[in-house]
Amino acid sequence: MKYIIEYKVEVGLDFKNNLLKLTKLSSRELLNYKILRESIDARDKTKVLYNYLLEIETTKKINPKLIRNIAKPYEIKYKQYRQKHRPVIVGFGPAGIFAALYLARCQAKPIIIERGDKVNIRQVKVRDFLENKILDENSNVVFGEGGAGTFSDGKLQTNLSSPYIKFILEEFVKHGANEDILTSNYPHIGTDILTKVIANIRQEIEELGGSFYFNTTFIDYNKCDDIEVITDNGKFLTSHLILALGHSAYDTIKMLAKKGLKIEPKPFAIGVRIEHKQSMINKSQYGNYANLLPPANYKLVCHLKERSVFTFCMCPGGYVLPSQNEHNTIVTNGMSNNKREGENSNSALLVEVKVSDYYKGNPLDGFTFIKDIESKAFNIAKDYRAPANLVKEFLNDEVALEERTIKTTYPHKLIMTDLNKVLPSFVIKSLKEALPLLNNKLEGFSFADAIMIACETRSSCPVKFKRDNFMSSENGLYVIGEGSGYAGGITSSALDGLKCAISIINVEPAINKSS
Ligand SMILES: Cc1cc2nc3c(=O)[nH]c(=O)nc-3n(C[C@H](O)[C@H](O)[C@H](O)COP(=O)(O)OP(=O)(O)OC[C@H]3O[C@@H](n4cnc5c(N)ncnc54)[C@H](O)[C@@H]3O)c2cc1C
Repeated sequence: MKYIIEYKVEVGLDFKNNLLKLTKLSSRELLNYKILRESIDARDKTKVLYNYLLEIETTKKINPKLIRNIAKPYEIKYKQYRQKHRPVIVGFGPAGIFAALYLARCQAKPIIIERGDKVNIRQVKVRDFLENKILDENSNVVFGEGGAGTFSDGKLQTNLSSPYIKFILEEFVKHGANEDILTSNYPHIGTDILTKVIANIRQEIEELGGSFYFNTTFIDYNKCDDIEVITDNGKFLTSHLILALGHSAYDTIKMLAKKGLKIEPKPFAIGVRIEHKQSMINKSQYGNYANLLPPANYKLVCHLKERSVFTFCMCPGGYVLPSQNEHNTIVTNGMSNNKREGENSNSALLVEVKVSDYYKGNPLDGFTFIKDIESKAFNIAKDYRAPANLVKEFLNDEVALEERTIKTTYPHKLIMTDLNKVLPSFVIKSLKEALPLLNNKLEGFSFADAIMIACETRSSCPVKFKRDNFMSSENGLYVIGEGSGYAGGITSSALDGLKCAISIINVEPAINKSS
């Protein structure tokens, strides 16, 4: 007999013996068990629990009260793509990857255009920037095969709920990610593994007839009967142009605005990366259980009178990364490897930015607002050192002399400065108000020596493209993923890409149907 049950066990206690006790089975009667879902419940620090959803196989009936029902897995269906031309996908980040993979399996032989390098060459270029400050504006932490999340923590959790999410996680596993992402409540892949997964997905798409054009930038398009896609490396005709650009491709988004695509400004968030010692976060989250558990994470929010302040993209055991794609700017973000074994943790500490904070009449004003802050951050040192301050001095309107008990992981070093010189006053004011409140939620969060590094400006897109019910912005043209304003993060962008491809296959707009 097979059952799905929920099972809670205190961290450190024997998994199997306690399971036998709960189910009132002997070890002979419990034939097998499989973990379907795993999470840690640390609300009570004196009794931290593992929460499991288990599938068990037994020789005997169990107490029906223990049994849980779960939805049947959703099966993705593939139909043949029937158009005169192959679909063109611009950008091979999560959104482009999943659109391309699905369309390739529908025999569409997609053409993929990517301004950056293949992931292995991109890795060399990113290293060159991290070690020697030599930035390639087309191949960097945000541009190139794999997109912006390639050098990340590879966190995969999302607030969205969709039957397709399981498919996305399964595809990551099929292409090389660890199986634990299928069961963990907070799945993450890690940069070291993600780079291999991306290359494996590209290989499958190529085997199915897809073609990749790296170091090729999409610069314009013309609508006639078909869509003429213009790149700096030649032209392509297509019936479906999918733009999975991310939100750092300001040049391309500007061109799309000029072509008349409908774009509206939207709220986003900016702030700093904050670094703590991971051991302190573990202790605050897990108390005496800290040594028995993997590196802890957190997600904090406080709603001030005028706006919210929250943490985002927390990287346990991670590193702070310079993530700019343009010379003479500074942008921070975070990454970690699969084992998350670094000494520090980091997260984005962000303040809500409302449209009224920046809008002057042009829908792209949010990009100008962001770029101005990124340039100011660069101009403090003019050599890629990032402006920073320590929490104690920040709260007291002083500037720290140097790092103290926490040493930054930021590779280009820091310049201690008054963060007022970089960030708008409403951001500084909100951060000052929020830090003590966030410390009430996570002890040590506003620790005097914690490092605040500016500036974190690319957590979400400042614009939203108008799309119809079939995700199209113009007949045959689709703007998807984070750059469209409808997604944020690896999984939600992948989901947007997958949904777009499924919609294309099932709806097939009237233009250029093959006879
Ligand atoms: C350092 C870092 C860490 C992150 N960590 C996480 C995390 O742990 N978890 C998480 O969920 N999210 C994370 N994110 C955010 C996540 O990476 C993005 O939300 C996600 O990658 C967006 O996917 P996308 O496919 O929409 O766009 P992107 O991943 O940005 O991909 C867009 C692609 O389009 C290409 N492109 C752009 N313009 C053109 C053009 N004109 N011609 C040709 N190609 C073009 C770019 O080179 C790029 O490869 C992180 C981001 C960064 C930078």
